[in-house]
Amino acid sequence: MNPGEDARRCAEGLWAISVPSDTLAPWTSTHAYLVGDAGVGWLIDPGGAGAEADAAVDALLRAAGVRHLKGILLTHTHPDHVAGVAGALRRHGPVDVWVHPAGLGRLPPGVSGKPLGPDRRLVAGPRFLTTVATPGHASDHLAYWLPETRALVAGDLVAGRGSTWVGTPDGDVADYLASLARAAALDPRLVAPAHGPLRTDGRQVLDEAREHRLERERAIWDGLADGPATLAHLREQVYPGLDPAAHDLAERSVLAHLRKLMRETRVMHLGTDAEGPFARAPGG
Ligand SMILES: [Zn+2]
Repeated sequence: MNPGEDARRCAEGLWAISVPSDTLAPWTSTHAYLVGDAGVGWLIDPGGAGAEADAAVDALLRAAGVRHLKGILLTHTHPDHVAGVAGALRRHGPVDVWVHPAGLGRLPPGVSGKPLGPDRRLVAGPRFLTTVATPGHASDHLAYWLPETRALVAGDLVAGRGSTWVGTPDGDVADYLASLARAAALDPRLVAPAHGPLRTDGRQVLDEAREHRLERERAIWDGLADGPATLAHLREQVYPGLDPAAHDLAERSVLAHLRKLMRETRVMHLGTDAEGPFARAPGG
């Protein structure tokens, strides 16, 4: 799904559109979703701001036949998911904006949210959806599960292609793996991510994301085979020849893995700051 394409009905009671947004490469848009039926609906992640983005969100509501918007639901509070909230409220509000309690203080200026915890059931006309705790990419991340169609609106839990970013300070690899397992236990048929293609092989995309994380962990572990190594050294091992502009993001991702390994006492931190060096723990 790409910017400029029409809204798409991707399952019973679920519509999607690609909304231009200021997001991480390789993406240029965030998918907004509408869960609803019988003229009412919930908007999930309005995406970016600006005229083009506004037009996409409006087209989504039109395609779904929404006459009454029940509220805006957020998967998390990264700017590429929430920049469009204020505009959506202006055009389709007033409605409540629901967000994980950890995200309440992270909303754009002028937007206030209501707390939405995991395992909440929300009604949308004759249908319903439930919230799923999915921290890891962000500590305030929720996914939305439509049990009748076995569709998971996944936010940034996974990308439709490639991997999603998990890095410090807010990301957590152990939480992320647990979230993937929680999502897999639902046995989704459709996984509808915020970026990239929608995936009808739901279990497969979750398994791929898990395998990717474990592969990255193995690469970091291998990077410590010859003795202590700095964060920069490990980044070069895992992401060789990276554009220096991306070093910070890459190092924060490596650090998120190192934190997991440190908590498992497989890796020790030897230095005084995030640069390390890091070493395999005896018996690790
Ligand atoms: Zn995000």
